[in-house]
Amino acid sequence: MKAKVAINGYGTIGKRVADAVSAQEDMEITGVVKTRPSFEARIAKEKGYQLYAAAKENIDDFRKSKLEISGTLDELLDEADIVIDATPGDTGEEYKKLYEKHGVKAIWQGGEEHELAGFSFNSEANYKDALGRDFARVVSCNTTGLVRVLYALDSAYGVKKARVTLMRRAADPNDIKTGPINALVPDPIKLPSHHGPDVNSILPHIDITTMAVKTSTTLMHLHALNTELKNKCSEDDITKLFGERPRIRLVSSRDRIKSTAEAMELAKDMGRPRGDMWENVVWKDSISIDKGELYFFQAIHQESDVVPENVDAIRALCGLEKDGMKSIKKTNEALGITAL
Ligand code: NAD
Repeated sequence: MKAKVAINGYGTIGKRVADAVSAQEDMEITGVVKTRPSFEARIAKEKGYQLYAAAKENIDDFRKSKLEISGTLDELLDEADIVIDATPGDTGEEYKKLYEKHGVKAIWQGGEEHELAGFSFNSEANYKDALGRDFARVVSCNTTGLVRVLYALDSAYGVKKARVTLMRRAADPNDIKTGPINALVPDPIKLPSHHGPDVNSILPHIDITTMAVKTSTTLMHLHALNTELKNKCSEDDITKLFGERPRIRLVSSRDRIKSTAEAMELAKDMGRPRGDMWENVVWKDSISIDKGELYFFQAIHQESDVVPENVDAIRALCGLEKDGMKSIKKTNEALGITAL
């Protein structure tokens, strides 16, 4: 039996998770929820997804736009085993009671607080702890990117401390509400940015401090990492370690990938849907050990890196697969996350 998945909030993250779920053999989309008719709603129908209105009062809007609606969120929840809540940050809480009422499991996104779900998820770091839970939160794009590399480093060499500067994209490419900006904005101005504490919601023992700057770009985030490791290793050891991780893609400036622009072009040339780059993009020629400390750069595609983690989180909560690495393998194979 396939797990029946509902998507509440069919925007940047929700529509990508819907397609990623549809690509898996052990889960299927029962329906997607929109607040109002839009081109995204129309395309969702064309893809064969059942469309549901967020509330009864929205239904007329859909009818006027000649978009057939299968019911409301309330009705969809009767059919589903689990809901992916990808509504805008801080909206998820209003739905928690509804999910509980319908006895449906729920996965929220990084815009929500850890406390809402009581459990923050990353596929490699804590899949086992998610097994059978009712609620989880897939951490934000930046935190997912940080946990992937820090978990790998910590497991292999022990992380004594991590100091990270995040250069954040100001808005998503489709966003006309928040951008563009013509400035570099320290955000927040005072230490720490929320990313360090958020990493600690999954890896509580890691000594991490983060600073963040909002930048005039929509493509990707860029992280500059400096870590002190407990055990000695070489630059080649780190390259090998990252090269073996399932969601880290090593690139090189010698290959003419010198920026987030070329990293995005790589994803498009690979034929990725929507030009998505699900993996952390780590520059192998940035990996440097200097005075005993490790430095490197990575780029994170904010619109898509959390998508495979959502698929794994569904598997863990629904108990479809007990072994995290097996789930990661299934997800990666179904999506086509393979080495170049
Ligand atoms: P989005 O604005 O692109 O999409 C949100 C969708 O939810 C929209 O379709 C909107 O119409 C719908 N919506 C709004 N209010 C609703 C309601 N009350 N009920 C049902 N649907 C409603 O947002 P997004 O970027 O996909 O973000 C969703 C979540 O994912 C947030 O928690 C965000 O922090 C997190 N996240 C976003 C990114 C990113 O870069 N976009 C990356 C990782 C995590």
